[in-house]
Amino acid sequence: MAELFYDDDADLSLIQSKKVAIIGYGSQGHAHALNLRDSGVEVVVGLREGSASRAKAEEQGLAVATVADAVKQADVVMILAPDQAQRKLYADDIEPNLKADAALFFAHGFNIRFGYIKPGAGHDIAMVAPKGPGHTVRREYEAGRGVPVIVAVEQDASGQAWDLALSYAKAIGGLRAAGIKTTFTEETETDLFGEQAVLCGGVSQLIQYGFETLTEAGYQPEVAYFEVLHELKLIVDLMWEGGISKQRWSISDTAEYGDYVSGPRVIDPHVKENMKAVLADVQSGAFADRFIKDQDAGAPEFKELRAKGEQHPIEPVGRELRKLFAWTDTRDADYVEGSAG
Ligand code: NDP
Ligand code: MG
Ligand code: MG
Repeated sequence: MAELFYDDDADLSLIQSKKVAIIGYGSQGHAHALNLRDSGVEVVVGLREGSASRAKAEEQGLAVATVADAVKQADVVMILAPDQAQRKLYADDIEPNLKADAALFFAHGFNIRFGYIKPGAGHDIAMVAPKGPGHTVRREYEAGRGVPVIVAVEQDASGQAWDLALSYAKAIGGLRAAGIKTTFTEETETDLFGEQAVLCGGVSQLIQYGFETLTEAGYQPEVAYFEVLHELKLIVDLMWEGGISKQRWSISDTAEYGDYVSGPRVIDPHVKENMKAVLADVQSGAFADRFIKDQDAGAPEFKELRAKGEQHPIEPVGRELRKLFAWTDTRDADYVEGSAG
């Protein structure tokens, strides 16, 4: 059983006695910076020259500096720029300006696990990774609740790295829910596997195949869209509330029986073999290497795949249908439909 931490297990005054630089002000960056600030922690946001995020951070009354200047002042540096940008950012702007005993924090183990960032022995290296998007992390904090976090320490130079990580986790609201102890290796490998095999890659492909199967058989695309994509949320919500069991309890007996007899036909044991191959590529670093090499070259493969995904026939069908729904008004303000990014 995993080791869990709650608010009572952490001392908020520890992080309150430090100056924290939040590098990046995107999904996670804005949530960490604002939650820390509201928990009484001194925060400076570090952004690159000409950053589009600068105005947003300043609007919230946060101190903003260049990455170099933010790092120079900081006892704790939380790196919340995109994973593929972190290696260069660290080498150019963070490492040369880091206080000798500053702690380095991450919200994902990617760059440490695969060796793209190799901090010196004098620094604490810890992870506080909310198990939810930044906008939820901020919203829940404001509502007096929290999103669970996972916490890990890769290097404990000060002898206090765990206490500091837990204090940080408490300040962003994570320990109101729970902190789960893990390692950089476990977090990174399970995170990449989960998103590739199940949550993002697996589910997207499953939906597309389902849509193609129905439309190729002559069914109307709008009806197919509802059956293979729209209703997914209702199913996932039930699973989220009460596991697969609650989902099966709630659906009709017809649907439940179909689940048992056809699920294993579609997702056959060969799929599990494929999953093991995906996991092997995560563990060996082959996936990280392919991703970072492509990013370093200007992301040609990534951009091509993204454009190809946008062209799948299910996208225009969904775009038209969603115009009919009232809840499209609550879309994320930053997201533009059909913008491929
Ligand atoms: P975002 O893509 O939202 O980060 C964007 C921010 O990073 C912007 O402020 C942007 O500034 C800045 N930025 C982008 N490129 C650079 C660069 N080259 N140099 C300096 N700053 C840059 O990141 P996320 O919040 O999604 O992810 C941050 C970390 O959190 C990652 O490690 C991720 O794995 C982890 N994480 C993310 C979760 C999520 O839900 N998104 C969940 C849990 C963990 P500008 O305006 O200048 O472009
Ligand atoms: Mg991930
Ligand atoms: Mg149905």
